[in-house]
Amino acid sequence: MIPTIDYIQTRFDEYNSLYFKGILPPVPIKLSNARTFLGKLCFKRRRKWLFGPYYNTDFILRINTRADLPEELVEDTILHEMIHYFIAVNQLHDTRTHGQIFRREMKRINEMGGRHISISYRPNSEQLAQLRKETE
Ligand SMILES: [Zn+2]
Repeated sequence: MIPTIDYIQTRFDEYNSLYFKGILPPVPIKLSNARTFLGKLCFKRRRKWLFGPYYNTDFILRINTRADLPEELVEDTILHEMIHYFIAVNQLHDTRTHGQIFRREMKRINEMGGRHISISYRPNSEQLAQLRKETE
């Protein structure tokens, strides 16, 4: 399937109440035509004053629409990015990109929802070929 903004928004709201107690604030969703990722959470690190603490802001959830992927992979990609969002929006500091907090949340949601979220979305060769295909 190739997701639409409406589809991603619906899944986001559903997963937010199902797995995050509805605490995630609304986030702008954009579709991406990139060849290099299935999903990506973009945000900026800012500080309010010169030596103040950094905080994360200006979030955008990007989901790839170049490839026609199985629906479960699209859903798990949305969930993967939502875990990044949960960590970033709460200004948590993980040990690394997919560190202890990320893995804990991933395990929790995988067990709770019988999902298959993984830390790496290196697309398989067929999906990679799809991603590389020029849109006509
Ligand atoms: Zn990630």
